[in-house]
Amino acid sequence: MIDHIKLWSHLQVLQDSYAFFDAADVQRFGHILEEMSGWELFRINPLQFASQHHFNAILVQNLFIYATKVGLFQMEWNMLCPTCGGMEHSYGSLHELADGHFHCIVCNVDYDAELDRYIEVSFTMNPEVACFTYSPFTNEKEYENYFISRNYHRSVEHQHFTENIAFRGFTAPMGGQAGVIRFEAKAGDLLRLLSLDQHMVSYIRVGDEAASAKTLTLDLTPDGITPPMLTIAPGETELIIQNHLEIQAGLVLLFTNLEMFHHITTSHPPKLQPFLTGYMLLNNQKFREALLIEKFPDDLQLRLSNITLLFTDLQNSTELYELSGDTYAYNLVQEHFKLLSQVVSKHGGAIVKTMGDAIMATFTYPCDGVCAAYEMLAQIQEWNQRKELKSDYQMELKIGLHTGSALAVKANETIDFFGQTVNIAARVQSIAQAGEIWLTDEVFQSPEVSSLLQTKGIVHEKYSILLKGVNRRSIVYKCALST
Ligand SMILES: [Zn+2]
Repeated sequence: MIDHIKLWSHLQVLQDSYAFFDAADVQRFGHILEEMSGWELFRINPLQFASQHHFNAILVQNLFIYATKVGLFQMEWNMLCPTCGGMEHSYGSLHELADGHFHCIVCNVDYDAELDRYIEVSFTMNPEVACFTYSPFTNEKEYENYFISRNYHRSVEHQHFTENIAFRGFTAPMGGQAGVIRFEAKAGDLLRLLSLDQHMVSYIRVGDEAASAKTLTLDLTPDGITPPMLTIAPGETELIIQNHLEIQAGLVLLFTNLEMFHHITTSHPPKLQPFLTGYMLLNNQKFREALLIEKFPDDLQLRLSNITLLFTDLQNSTELYELSGDTYAYNLVQEHFKLLSQVVSKHGGAIVKTMGDAIMATFTYPCDGVCAAYEMLAQIQEWNQRKELKSDYQMELKIGLHTGSALAVKANETIDFFGQTVNIAARVQSIAQAGEIWLTDEVFQSPEVSSLLQTKGIVHEKYSILLKGVNRRSIVYKCALST
């Protein structure tokens, strides 16, 4: 149940503190939340919310980010297994994720926690505002619902395998108590007793020889399930699991044939509905401004399979300082940063840092980066015409874009990106002349980029060049606004 008074008082604080939100948008956001109940207010996917309620996706992300800042929501970072959709870990912040790896105990596979693919960000309403009576330990169905991302839809074949072939039993003993699972052990089977909440596993092999012991006791301790491996006799079996923890824990017994399981998930892959990834959040200027990055661990290092980087630089800025004086030039450069920041934000990107008169910005999709680059050139042109500059100096930008994999690292209280992709993006920018955008082949070949260039009537020339620090020739494209 939602406490309507608390909901609206949080939204009032949001509106009063962050005046850039339109009052009508905040009201509409509140009315939609009021109509949602229990499970719907749990791990909300902002992209889904936006499409379902015909809201602008970036506006919705911003509303959730600032509503989190005023305490209406809790933000969760969920590491998703790409094979089974299991939520291996869910964190209020990224603190435990620093080493960038995780292991799915269901699939028995190790993954790199790629920020743009396997890290889902969701929002759950503060339990003080919306009280839930939900428990993942009620039965195996609720347990599964809780530990599998709702953005992940299994194939019918995968679901059939899980429910009818793999599942053998479930129990959820309270802390200090014992749980029981009774099942028929078939000769030759391999079983696993998994605790998804505790991230623990024990293997049980069923031998061929009949034996008298049909009741077995296992211990769930802070260090794992013991014994971690045991062999039992076939026939009716009773597993007693003593929970030595102080909290309730879930345990599911599964028949295990990983080869069959991986064959099913490969030939009948899951369907994923779009969700907000950790990377999309880092590309949100408002998220960066809301300083939620401060919660990240200092040694954070996460891989990104695909990042789009845009570098700009101002043409002849030393000339500007020379001709116009330090104060005037400095203010002009700051104004140009403000203009670029607005364009970047509008296209779903974020400025990672400024270096002298240059910026480094990131985007989720290459076409957003290219769109932003063109709007920057167009706006600077317009700005030159509009503004009565103190001298003959004309502001001109030199822009370069590249897309590829990179490493996200926390540096100087922000998230920065490193790797060859970043170096190449900077090199491509360095060959641009005033009013030019240079794209690498990787950007040019990305979905929607070539059609975007066509639609906008942008002329481009293809070159094969040696970029400094890259020991092979690179295909690059010079693009310019048609005049
Ligand atoms: Zn998995």
